[in-house]
Amino acid sequence: MKNTLINGLFITLLALTLSACGPENTASTNSTAIDTSKTYNWKMVTTWPPGFPVLQEGAERFADNIKAMSNGRLTIKVYAGGELIPALQTFDAVSQGTVEMGHGSAYYWAGKVPEAQFFSTVPFGMTARGMNAWLYDGGGLDLWREVYKPFHVVPFPLGNTGVQMGGWFNKEINSIDDIKGLKMRIPGLGGKVFAKAGGNPILLAGSEVYTALERNTIDATEWIGPFHDQRLGLYRAAEHYYYPGWHEPGTVLELTVNQRAWDSLPSDLQAIVSNAAMAENVRMLSEMEQKNLSALQELKDRPNVQLHRFPNDVLTTLKKLTDETLLEMAANDVKFKKVYNAYQAFRNQNDAWSDISENAYLAIEKE
Ligand code: CA
Repeated sequence: MKNTLINGLFITLLALTLSACGPENTASTNSTAIDTSKTYNWKMVTTWPPGFPVLQEGAERFADNIKAMSNGRLTIKVYAGGELIPALQTFDAVSQGTVEMGHGSAYYWAGKVPEAQFFSTVPFGMTARGMNAWLYDGGGLDLWREVYKPFHVVPFPLGNTGVQMGGWFNKEINSIDDIKGLKMRIPGLGGKVFAKAGGNPILLAGSEVYTALERNTIDATEWIGPFHDQRLGLYRAAEHYYYPGWHEPGTVLELTVNQRAWDSLPSDLQAIVSNAAMAENVRMLSEMEQKNLSALQELKDRPNVQLHRFPNDVLTTLKKLTDETLLEMAANDVKFKKVYNAYQAFRNQNDAWSDISENAYLAIEKE
């Protein structure tokens, strides 16, 4: 009885082994042609300081997820800004293939690619919800890939800060006149608009912001949102905390991949990278929202912090100056104009829909 069973098993195994060697099975294996024994050991450089919460941590979590999902076939060693190369050379390092991946935000490359700013954030532009809709489903990501193609870089959205705060001021802002001559750390297009309003935008690295505000070298600064602002101690250097962050309504963070490195990956690892990027895009935004809502309460509880909304006429003037700035830039640069037109077309439709969906819903409580 026992021998019959063993013989039966042996015959079954033999049959399976033989059939696995048959020509039809070989053909179906070849059609996928993925060598799962090959491993890829990549480097990623970021624009963030070492250990920077949410952003650097998110880049590292993304790398950990890829290692787990690929069973170690693709490992990515993540370096913070300055650890391997200076923070703002991330794009060039990926472009030249010095490293395979980078994490930062597209507006950092505005000097080289002005139109890249639309894939990061523009003043009074779309929030995270609109940006995700545009990038994933409204043609935005295809356009972004086209813009980075000459640099041999493949971009993916990988995180979002949500709506940022307007910043910390050492005096109240009651009218647009209060901005005249004001020295504020505010980078990018926001800084350009601020200058048009009569302000004096100052460029400062994150590490210098607190000391400059505390010593009155600057009168005001923006940073990110309540969580990162509180961590930097800005409430100790200025007491007037303004919202909303008109200049950064939902800054998209980006994964950049060197084109040749991307092409070298088998299709399953490419699918793992693009889906891990999409997962981390959602995760970083939700973590940012959670940390901001709890830090906002802590800041409100501090006796010296005065929370203000920018007056309406200040916001409408800054919006008018933003529209003028973008139109001027589009008039002088065909590449900028192409992305501007695509962004505006989607944004107009997104605004019309938001007005009768999320905005209308949120307005109920205030009526
Ligand atoms: Ca900011």
